Amino acid sequence: MFSHDDKIGVAVSGGKDSLTLLQILSKMEKLRPKASLTAITVDEGIKGYREEAMRIASAKCEELAIPHYVTSFKELFGLTLDDVVAKNRKKDHKELTPCAYCGVLRRRALNMVARIVGATKIATGHTLDDEAQTILMNVLRGDVVRLTKEKPVTDEAHTKFVQKVKPLCEIPERESALYAYVKKIDFQGVPCPYASEAYRNTARAILNEMEEKYTGTKFTVVKLLERIRPALRTLEIGSNYKECKECGEPSSGDLCKPCELLKKME
Ligand code: SF4
Ligand code: ZN
Repeated sequence: MFSHDDKIGVAVSGGKDSLTLLQILSKMEKLRPKASLTAITVDEGIKGYREEAMRIASAKCEELAIPHYVTSFKELFGLTLDDVVAKNRKKDHKELTPCAYCGVLRRRALNMVARIVGATKIATGHTLDDEAQTILMNVLRGDVVRLTKEKPVTDEAHTKFVQKVKPLCEIPERESALYAYVKKIDFQGVPCPYASEAYRNTARAILNEMEEKYTGTKFTVVKLLERIRPALRTLEIGSNYKECKECGEPSSGDLCKPCELLKKME
């Protein structure tokens, strides 16, 4: 996933997985003089939730002496996630959950900041559980495009995309949490107020129940995708990126997803 001289932008939300990742990468980076780390935190603008996480993320970066770049949806897109949710509720737009907006805008924000700080890779704290849930969700939605794009290391599909890697993708969430407890890492305890609306919760519940009865289910789901990867590659989905006519960021259509969502709310 990494080269010895990578400039790694680590996405740090303040949750246990991203802080576990930051601590482990910081340890590894010290042994590689040509590599460097910058923590990136995106404040989505969720009242009563993000404040604690921002404080915890900053304290950890200070402790580990890692530069910390903080940005927000408000700064980059002109509105907070709370604004997005309020606007959608007013318009009675129910087809997309807050998490759907949050995910699209956060991915864009991370990529923009990674370029600003000169990162050659973006490392995220996605665990085995996250990966298995995403795969199951894409299967249940019949979304072959997203299933194909789900990878531990993303393709270098466009020069403006910074490659994303998921070093914890084969680590069960429980083990990441255990590491955080053993190392006494302070992490965010308050759950996101929008989390209960997520489709992901259903996928998580199904997988946890299956894992409880049939140990190894989550690994099987993730490994299955790797096994069918050669067949998916023949579909050549999503390899033709151009630039969004609105913002100039990489896009598979004329308008990129963030612009499409933001326009919808105007
Ligand atoms: Fe965003 Fe959903 Fe995560 Fe809350 S639970 S931070 S809305 S993706
Ligand atoms: Zn755009």
